[in-house]
Amino acid sequence: MKNEPVTIGVLALQGAFDVHAKRLQELGAVVRLVRKPEELAGLDGLVIPGGESTTFLKNLERVGFYDTLEAFVQSHPVFGTCAGCILMANEVANPPQRSFAVLDVAVERNAYGRQNDSVILNEQTSLPGGPVEMVFIRAPRISRVGGGVEVLAERDGHPTLVREGRLLAATFHPELTEDPRVHAYFLEMVEEAKGDQKRSREVTG
Ligand code: GLN
Repeated sequence: MKNEPVTIGVLALQGAFDVHAKRLQELGAVVRLVRKPEELAGLDGLVIPGGESTTFLKNLERVGFYDTLEAFVQSHPVFGTCAGCILMANEVANPPQRSFAVLDVAVERNAYGRQNDSVILNEQTSLPGGPVEMVFIRAPRISRVGGGVEVLAERDGHPTLVREGRLLAATFHPELTEDPRVHAYFLEMVEEAKGDQKRSREVTG
C-alpha cells in the first residue's frame, strides 16, 4: 500500500521558496508555505531555503518566530539549502552570527569569493544516479564536519551535501536544476522519520 503523502513546510519569509514548493509537490508531497510560527504545527518536515541568512534572522526575530522555529528544527526532519544550511550550522564564520546550531558542521559564509559568486558545477555524489548539478550562489563553504555527519557530495574536497540523522543540508541550490534527487532523498528521510514515530506510538500505546 502506498504511504499517505507527507506534509512539508517551506519557510517563506524570504528567498527562493516557491521553486522548492513546486519540486516537492511534483514529488508527491503536500506543501505548506510557512510565514507564521503557528503554521509549523503538524508538519512532517521543513525546508529552509536559500536567501540571505542575516535577513532571515532579522525577519525571524521581528515576527517572534525564532524560538518556535528553533524547537521545530531540534525535533523534526529539516532540509536547509545555502542560507538554510548556515542557519542550521553549529558554527558560523565570516562573520560569526546566531544559528540554531543543530547540525555539527562549521560554515564560512560567502567563502568562494567574488569571482565565483555564482557557478554551476557537476560533481560526484553518493546519491544513486551519477554526478549532480550544483548551482552555487554566494555560497557558504563547509569547513569542518563532526563525526556523525555523512558527506553525500563535495566540491574541491569540501562537503556540499551533508546529512546528520534527520537533518539534510546543501551549500548549493538543487531546486534550481531539473534534477529531483536531492529533494526525493529528503522526502525519503521524512517518510522514514514518520514511520519510526508511528511504530513507537504503536509500541507505547
Ligand atoms: N550568502 C548568503 C548568506 O550568507 C547565502 C546565499 C544563498 O543562500 N544563496 O546568507
